[in-house]
Amino acid sequence: MAYTSAMGDDPGMAGVTCPACHASNPRPHPVGRPVNGFAIGRCARCRFVFAFPRPTEGELATFYDAAYFEEGTEFGYGGYSGLPETNAKLMWPALRHSLGERLPRTGRLLDVGCASGGFLAAAAEDGWEAVGTEMSASAADRARAASGVTVFDGVLLPPSGTAPFDLVTAWHVLEHVLDPLGSLVELRKFLAPGGILFVELPSWNSLGRRVRRSSWAQLKPPEHLNYFTPRTLRTCLGEAGYEVSTSRGVTPWQPLRLMPTRDRWKELPKNVLKKGAGLIGCGAFARAVSVRGTT
Ligand SMILES: [Zn+2]
Repeated sequence: MAYTSAMGDDPGMAGVTCPACHASNPRPHPVGRPVNGFAIGRCARCRFVFAFPRPTEGELATFYDAAYFEEGTEFGYGGYSGLPETNAKLMWPALRHSLGERLPRTGRLLDVGCASGGFLAAAAEDGWEAVGTEMSASAADRARAASGVTVFDGVLLPPSGTAPFDLVTAWHVLEHVLDPLGSLVELRKFLAPGGILFVELPSWNSLGRRVRRSSWAQLKPPEHLNYFTPRTLRTCLGEAGYEVSTSRGVTPWQPLRLMPTRDRWKELPKNVLKKGAGLIGCGAFARAVSVRGTT
């Protein structure tokens, strides 16, 4: 199904505000051909790649209804809801590895877009006081059941009274939102002084995007509207007032022991190829670690 935007059928409309730096682009430089009725363009100021025209809040909400995390739906994470245990095994250790000694032993954690809560559950088990947000009410229900922690549904940000947090995480969230710069500015208010923001999302520089071009699996507006590279993510975080420690391309190693035995040898060459791509700057994901900053 081709998506039809209420903003009109002309994806080349003039006067577009860059979602990552808020600069006005008279006409963003096109990158490839339109996808699902959306143009894909690059900001002349910060070189961020994004889909336009932007859908409305109401249009976006239709993609995060109860069906979003269910099997067999056209959009969303089909089958994702069945993987909280696997996610917990991968994501919390990945974050601990990324942050190293900078990660306090325990503290208060906000996970924005917590999906089915596997990551939250692992953090809570490790002694963290964790809070989540999730646009999908059904996924939020599962997250509460999996982790036992507070999850606010239908919102990107929790009530302001829940702040401050020592650690805020946004796993594969900013590629979905209408205004990533504005969201990052708001998110910063939830961090304690010296608090850490961890962001991971699909990378426009990835080997998959370079090989598959317009058929890259992550190129799927209006579900994914924003296509960061490690560099444009760093720039956007800086615009939002963060002090960026690292922003780089990564390809997480899929632990073979977590896979069904029959898949292990099939997945090993793919794992090696992806890891090699990560080493030459074409990692599947952009991952950034920032602190709130002093201003
Ligand atoms: Zn820009």
